[in-house]
Amino acid sequence: MDITLVRGDITEQRTDAIVNAANSSLMGGGGVDGAIHRRGGPEILEECRKLRAGHYGRGLRTGQAVATTAGRLAAKWVIHTVGPVYSRSEDRSELLAACYHESLRVADSLGARSVAFPAISTGLYGWPMDGAARIALAAVRQADTSVDDLRFVLFDDAAYAVFEAHL
Ligand code: ADP
Repeated sequence: MDITLVRGDITEQRTDAIVNAANSSLMGGGGVDGAIHRRGGPEILEECRKLRAGHYGRGLRTGQAVATTAGRLAAKWVIHTVGPVYSRSEDRSELLAACYHESLRVADSLGARSVAFPAISTGLYGWPMDGAARIALAAVRQADTSVDDLRFVLFDDAAYAVFEAHL
């Protein structure tokens, strides 16, 4: 698997799938989630609504992942996953690693070979970039997957530098 770091906006990636740092409601939010729904158009939210009306009536649990199509985005699919909110008192690393593992499992089920990830949980969910980068890179390196082009799309220079140091 090739792991590449990209400085930029995940909504512009031309990979088979892009991963959304969603919340459990699947009904949109800020950060990556807001950008994906804004640029991808209403089709994605419509599919999320159907997921909520069906199997995900109680929402998507932390560490789980589920796919929709990508509306107007260049990618074919959006894989929505819910990162853990950072906690100083509780180690939630396994849940953060699960986001990467589950997203790759969903990517495999779709036949996606190229996948772009944001730095899950490092925005509104408060995870320090250094720890999140270490967990993310270890998780994707351990994954047993057919994805062979994996990109981390980092929104600013600081995040890029942290991922670069760990890679
Ligand atoms: P979470 O709720 O999981 O913390 P956020 O979307 O708030 O998710 O933030 C996750 C990371 O994605 C943050 O580092 C944030 O700076 C970054 N980010 C925000 N918008 C984009 C975007 N359009 N493309 C790539 N990364 C983004």
